[in-house]
Amino acid sequence: MKTPFEYRNGALHCEDVPAAEIAAQAGTPCFVYSAGGILARYREYSEAFGDIPHHVCYAVKANSNTAVLRQLAAAGAWFDIVSGGELFRVIHAGGQADRVVFSGVGKIASEVDYALASGIHSFNCESESELDLIDARARLHGTRARVSLRVNPDINPETHPKISTGLRENKFGIDIAGIERVYEHAHALPNLEPEGVSCHIGSQLMKPDPVMESAARMIDLVGRLRARGLPIRHLDLGGGLGVAYSPGGSTPSIRDFVERLSGRFAGLDLTIFVEPGRSIVAESGILLTQVIVRKRNQLKEFVVVDAAMNDLLRPTLYEAHHEIRPVLQRSGHTLTADIVGPVCETGDYLALGRQLPAVEPGDLLAVFTAGAYGFVMSSNYNARPRAAEVLVEGGAWSIARRRETYDDLVRGE
Ligand SMILES: *Cc1c(COP(=O)(O)O)cnc(C)c1O
Repeated sequence: MKTPFEYRNGALHCEDVPAAEIAAQAGTPCFVYSAGGILARYREYSEAFGDIPHHVCYAVKANSNTAVLRQLAAAGAWFDIVSGGELFRVIHAGGQADRVVFSGVGKIASEVDYALASGIHSFNCESESELDLIDARARLHGTRARVSLRVNPDINPETHPKISTGLRENKFGIDIAGIERVYEHAHALPNLEPEGVSCHIGSQLMKPDPVMESAARMIDLVGRLRARGLPIRHLDLGGGLGVAYSPGGSTPSIRDFVERLSGRFAGLDLTIFVEPGRSIVAESGILLTQVIVRKRNQLKEFVVVDAAMNDLLRPTLYEAHHEIRPVLQRSGHTLTADIVGPVCETGDYLALGRQLPAVEPGDLLAVFTAGAYGFVMSSNYNARPRAAEVLVEGGAWSIARRRETYDDLVRGE
């Protein structure tokens, strides 16, 4: 499947379902995900590894809707989580805990306990104190915890500074310099089994080269650790492969990326883990929104829509570009406008100075490439109920999360 979204006779479809039909029944704003698109990207990863032992651990934080997790679990995916809440979601969706790796820079005791009690596969540890914590909790549980150390390989991933994680100045991971000593510390703890090395250098990487470079450093490290008698069984390269958000851009090929990586691992007797999030779900999601009003001042034209920064934070947080097009194609003249939401913040916009067909109040717009870091980053700011989420499978669609109500807003207060 090239893209799950296409115009047929001028009407945007997700797989075989008209987007306008979903908007009419589910309302707006509404995230729409293509199950077929998501599974195709997952399989592209999994198949490209061929005979190399591997696990594709979907990074739950990119899109943690249980309907999405259920699809991936059924296809055989493993999961990368960064919180106890994400573990709960995976289990709730029917995922197996023994296919979960737990990353994150600040795990707390209750999360470690929950993960141990659930029987997750392993922890990606980000500090020496965390090793001590997991060792202590594992002793209480009468078990041994498999751990992998998340190494900071000090590599510039050449991406937006807010999503670069593998530089020395970032909070993530443990310095690669001196990491051998940390492994020996882990090895000496009675309730830990240090069996892996991991890294994750950043997100939205448009070139595989920085990942290749960090893979090379990690393979070297595996050799050094094994030479010290430390049994390393798996290497986790994290996620990070980017997608094209602008029409001219081209999305890096998953197949080429994995095949280049795999070339390096033949004969190493290592199971390779990858943790892709964005590259699996981003392009299989859109956000549907309706135009509320058009207004102009002396300088500018504004299209005010019913989706806002509380629904899709990426433009505000990362200056991210998302393509925005009418759900029903229209010809005729165009306008150049800021596409903004109703939230009381100057930073509340989906696009600035964007050219688009001259839409009118009531028209539907689709914000593309919104399947990753979209709904998961949404909030109730301005007491706005969170959007609905819909999953499309071929010609059928269903509500994957109902739109929040006003009662949801005050639940728990
Ligand atoms: C965010 C994250 C990922 C996923 O990154 P993508 O860019 O979405 O592929 C993988 N691993 C870890 C540890 C992460 O924090």
